[in-house]
Amino acid sequence: MDHKELEAYFKSLDRSFFVEDDMKQYATLDQPLPIGFGQTISQPSLVLEMTRLLEPEKDSRVLEIGTGSGFQTAILAKMSAEVFTVERIEELMTKAKKRLDALKFANIHFKVGDGSKGWPEHAPYDRIMVTAAARILPDDLIIQLANGGRMVIPVGPQYLQELQLITKTDKGDINIETFGMVRFVELKGKYGWTE
Ligand code: SAM
Repeated sequence: MDHKELEAYFKSLDRSFFVEDDMKQYATLDQPLPIGFGQTISQPSLVLEMTRLLEPEKDSRVLEIGTGSGFQTAILAKMSAEVFTVERIEELMTKAKKRLDALKFANIHFKVGDGSKGWPEHAPYDRIMVTAAARILPDDLIIQLANGGRMVIPVGPQYLQELQLITKTDKGDINIETFGMVRFVELKGKYGWTE
């Protein structure tokens, strides 16, 4: 991954474009902000850190779970070949898609549904980014991660999780590294919390 390109695009991206009118004045703060439906756009510095850990390449096919506002999706789409993004709340997905279409991205595929089970029809993925907190590491996502792939995911109880980097070797073995504690909204569904 070209870190300079990532940082330049991250700086150029206007976060106020991804939030509702009443939140635009707070968009430059390094804080999560509400986006409706009890959900949040993540803290920008954490979005950058997680993208650095994910290391998308220009030929990567990326699965993203938790489209939210579409802010992280834009960064992934800029830094990779194709993004498959899944969001369970249809209204959030509609708004995110409108924003990403306005930014002229043509390499993003959208799905409304339970992303904790991934998107098996398009697997395997070189990279998987999960931006909601899983109760346990989702087996379905591990299966859908390509050999040589990387997955970034917060795992743990509802109010504090470990940020985990899962790497799959070329032979298919799994390694798990942790990168401190984070606080994400709940991943609902099979490997998360009940609706
Ligand atoms: N990355 C987003 C952004 O840049 O705005 C922020 C994502 S927000 C912290 C987490 C999102 O995950 C929410 O929009 C929530 O609805 C979604 N979510 C939670 N459980 C999900 C599931 N099982 N499948 C798909 N999306 C889910």
